[in-house]
Amino acid sequence: MSGIIQLLPDHVANQIAAGEVVQRPASVVKELVENAVDAKATEIKLIVKDAGKTLIQVIDNGLGMNVTDARLCFERHATSKIRHAEDLFALHTKGFRGEALASIAAVAHVELKTKQDQEELGIHIIIEGSKLVTQEVAVLPKGTSFLVKNLFFNIPARRNFLKSDNVELKHIIDEFERVALAHPNISFTMISNGSEVFNLPSSNYRQRIVNIFGGKTNEKLVPVAEETEILKISGFVGKPEFAKKNRSEQFFLVNNRFIRSPFLHHAIMNAYDGLLRDNNQPSYFLYLEVPPHTIDINIHPTKTEVKFDDEQALYAILRSTVKHSLGMFNVAPVLDFERDATLDVPYDYKDKTMSTPLIQVDSTFNPFATETETKKYSGSSVSYAKSTPAQPHWESLYTDLKQDTFEVSTTNFENEVVASKLFDETIVESQTLMYQFNRKYIIKSMKSGLLVIHQNRAHQRILYEQFLTNITVHQASSQQLLFPLEIQFSRDEMMYLKEIQPNLEGIGFAFEKMGLDEVVISGLPSQIADTEVTQILHDLIYNLQESLPEDSFSLCDSISKFMAKSVAVKSGKYLNTIELENLVNGLFACKDPNVSPFNKQIFITLTTEDLDKRF
Ligand code: ADP
Ligand code: MG
Repeated sequence: MSGIIQLLPDHVANQIAAGEVVQRPASVVKELVENAVDAKATEIKLIVKDAGKTLIQVIDNGLGMNVTDARLCFERHATSKIRHAEDLFALHTKGFRGEALASIAAVAHVELKTKQDQEELGIHIIIEGSKLVTQEVAVLPKGTSFLVKNLFFNIPARRNFLKSDNVELKHIIDEFERVALAHPNISFTMISNGSEVFNLPSSNYRQRIVNIFGGKTNEKLVPVAEETEILKISGFVGKPEFAKKNRSEQFFLVNNRFIRSPFLHHAIMNAYDGLLRDNNQPSYFLYLEVPPHTIDINIHPTKTEVKFDDEQALYAILRSTVKHSLGMFNVAPVLDFERDATLDVPYDYKDKTMSTPLIQVDSTFNPFATETETKKYSGSSVSYAKSTPAQPHWESLYTDLKQDTFEVSTTNFENEVVASKLFDETIVESQTLMYQFNRKYIIKSMKSGLLVIHQNRAHQRILYEQFLTNITVHQASSQQLLFPLEIQFSRDEMMYLKEIQPNLEGIGFAFEKMGLDEVVISGLPSQIADTEVTQILHDLIYNLQESLPEDSFSLCDSISKFMAKSVAVKSGKYLNTIELENLVNGLFACKDPNVSPFNKQIFITLTTEDLDKRF
């Protein structure tokens, strides 16, 4: 009796395998570039169009293939890199599964041109969805060029599943950076939609890192080196003060292959213990060499996860080596018996300017004063209005005390480099009483009761509506800077920045220059101060990278929301009467004064009845 099990035809098997190997354009880039490295190329060029959705081309000057191999390479399990099972334990190449090209050819239009050095002529092959279309000899330079067009043309569901060009391009850049970091001796170029993204000449590790991540990276790097029997470490870690909010500069390259390892990452974080602010992430570019038989890189189809034989030992060596380097280069506190530890300033306070405490004595204060005088000091908080006239005035002692401290810290706040004036200081006639309570809420009395406004959310709403209008109608006022600002970005941050440049110009940014890894800003939106702009832009890009909106309206919306959130006056900031007045008026001039851009309630009202009920 015949069974029901059948062997899958090759093209079906290849499509299934493709699901594992080729998830997105970036996977194709990774496989093709790694093949070029394995073919001992010294120059590799990557060209993409529409984030690889339309075209991905990798050109190398490596060994090339002869006619037979050029045909065979598209077969499943066709590899020149291992012959025996034992070879798996002594891998020195990136590839070994022999399934990448078969998988890619199953889901795209592929064109291969290749020639070996010693041959006169090369070969040109076109394959579409695993089917050979043409094969002919051709005059070609030495090396190989793979052209992959219309990825997932035969699997529409996959194609629709791809993210926006920005997101896909970001993945491509990630893969490109990883291979380029692992092989500084190879020169790499990357071109996206006709413009050059990277041009990395052959160099040493340090220069390669700097060429990828921008000129400013150089001063951040602390060298790391250690050699033991089971592990050789070289590379760099970042000085703690340059730690970033995101993990975009963390690389482990094990035997020249980028890997992810939460375990080894933990070892590094441990070495930085106590040196990082908030949840900042240190940069690291660490090259680890272990004997090939002590790792298993076979556990993940895309080969970014590995298993080490002796993880515990690696952990310990890595941790102490990094710690030692941080100490050697004086970035970590070292034991110093001469030093008086009591003089150490906690990290948080290090950069703060000292201010002499101010003591203010209210010379007019009279504990036996009558009601009217006391009232004068109860201005900052509604609750004080409760103090009844005939009481002996021990409570007012507190009132005054509070008033005093209030004044002291007010001066402190004013001393800060004040970012931006909240509003134009036009004098507004104050009709009704208004207080700032706890530096967080604005309390305003109305005919019918009390209005309690959340100052931060109110300002977010005002700014959000301003930014959104400006960004869509492009008529923001820009404040020209006397000295243009130079700000450094990494290459992939620059990609995003260029993408959102028109939006930023809409809200008042003026860019004098957009380089490969820096921008020069000559004008800013009036709401943003030059001292905060670097941080705001870096954070904005980081935020967008995480979830880049697909359509242009949501992009404008996200940018406006983010800007509003970053610039809005925070809780804890003292506001003077004019600022309070402006904030409240600005809020009620908004289209939607009820909720913040993040859908949080901005104010509540307490009617006279509400209050009456409570008494
Ligand atoms: P693997 O890399 O795992 O061996 P691939 O499907 O990626 O499998 O490639 C199959 C074979 O094709 C490789 O083993 C190699 O012999 C050959 N090949 C692929 N790309 C190149 C290239 N750029 N230059 C020379 N040979 C290549
Ligand atoms: Mg390969």
